[in-house]
Amino acid sequence: METRVIQLIMELRRQGITDTRVLAAIERVPRERFVADQFLKHAYDNIALPITQGQTISQPFVVAYMTEALRLGDRMKVLEIGTGSGYQSMVLAKLCRRVYTIERYRSLLQTAQRRFADLGVNNITAKLGDGNKGWVEQAPFDRILVTAAADRRPETLLEQLSPDGGIMVAPVAVSAIEQDVIRYTRTGDDIQEERLLPVRFVPLLPGIAREAAG
Ligand code: SAH
Repeated sequence: METRVIQLIMELRRQGITDTRVLAAIERVPRERFVADQFLKHAYDNIALPITQGQTISQPFVVAYMTEALRLGDRMKVLEIGTGSGYQSMVLAKLCRRVYTIERYRSLLQTAQRRFADLGVNNITAKLGDGNKGWVEQAPFDRILVTAAADRRPETLLEQLSPDGGIMVAPVAVSAIEQDVIRYTRTGDDIQEERLLPVRFVPLLPGIAREAAG
């Protein structure tokens, strides 16, 4: 195992990540395959890095924290909103039965899909779409992870969450300048909310992105 991977795992432990399955998943996903060449030497630094289209691959601590907060089981069906680089999808794919992930930039989606194929992962289904709408045909989901900041409680996604103890973890704006990771736990029509961690995510935007061809 590479020294810098071991160092990252040790740092995540120091920051309070205790779930050994989550730590093992992070250890096994090669983050260098999800960052641009010019950032290769920072691939295992505990920092967010820019990807294309003004988006970011999240900080490993935040990936670990949100993944742990989901309380995943290995038989679960999970929806992710915001495929981005595909890194978080890969971490989820190590810990559950199947991941459905939605991205609004076709170019990001295609790059992520190529990475999934190159890494031989076969339990991720990715599509172009507006994540605000969820993935009706595949609902309900045992777990939902949103990786872009919503400006309010994502009601449509909560409707696609299993009523039988389904959990959604999402960064949600709590004021004009602050976002918190919120954990929503659904039992029937009752939704319990816990504020977990202040964060900074790129915004959850409406609709599919327009991009120049090519
Ligand atoms: N999980 C990603 C994080 C990417 S940043 C990773 O591990 O790299 C957030 C992503 O959410 C961006 O790629 C952005 O384009 C996407 N996004 C924002 N709003 C969206 C929406 N409504 N539907 C789908 N994707 C969205």
